[in-house]
Amino acid sequence: MSRRYNKARCPDCKMQATLCICALVPRLQTRTRLTLLVHYREARKPTNTGQLAARCLERSTVEIVGQKDQLIERPLIGDEVPLLMFPADDAVSIEAFANSPQPIALFVPDGNWRQASKMRRRGPGLGDMQCVTLPDTGPTAYRLRAEPRAGGLATLEAIARALAILEGDRGPEIESAMLAVFRVMVERTLWFRGRLRDSEVTGGIPAAAVANDPRGAVTRARAEPGARAVASEASNRADPAARAPLAGKTLLDRG
Ligand SMILES: [Zn+2]
Repeated sequence: MSRRYNKARCPDCKMQATLCICALVPRLQTRTRLTLLVHYREARKPTNTGQLAARCLERSTVEIVGQKDQLIERPLIGDEVPLLMFPADDAVSIEAFANSPQPIALFVPDGNWRQASKMRRRGPGLGDMQCVTLPDTGPTAYRLRAEPRAGGLATLEAIARALAILEGDRGPEIESAMLAVFRVMVERTLWFRGRLRDSEVTGGIPAAAVANDPRGAVTRARAEPGARAVASEASNRADPAARAPLAGKTLLDRG
């Protein structure tokens, strides 16, 4: 069952194959270099937006972290200024680096609060790296996860907002290109879950999904005993901890 289920997903964007968003992912040039530190329990979730953000950016790498005793490397290039997006007590607003003469190496933990705190402690150089936070510029458009978000943003949104500040004149354009594909991901997923009508999905429903409605397969799977976890969220089944309340607090996003 799970194999058939996985086959129905795009291996790259992890969306249902007929709802694949890969063709819409931009490749954006930035001065800032992104290192996404993805907790291994987060990495396989179809609702993970950090990895989508990394795919949007030419200068990005994804590190899967969080395994016991694993150390996080922190390679820097040239005269980069390393910044960690984490709301530590001594964090400053990322706006302080808006006109940095040196390029920024932005490290972004992608996991829940507890996972991100652990990453920070385990990464050599991460513990003493300058922490930055985003100014409050409005609520999230992320509607795919039920856990309390406490005003948190999806990881992609947080990265896009950071780049809007760090990338000068091109910042707003980079942010909106990233948010455009994010919006389609969210809306296609909500449509798949029966929470949006066809007409409410930006750009409409892809022809492949019209011809072969992926929602039918899920309805059938739900009717089979024991198939619920597969139909809802494969990653949750593999990771029961992901469903536990996360101390009521999410970091930048658990997106
Ligand atoms: Zn895809």
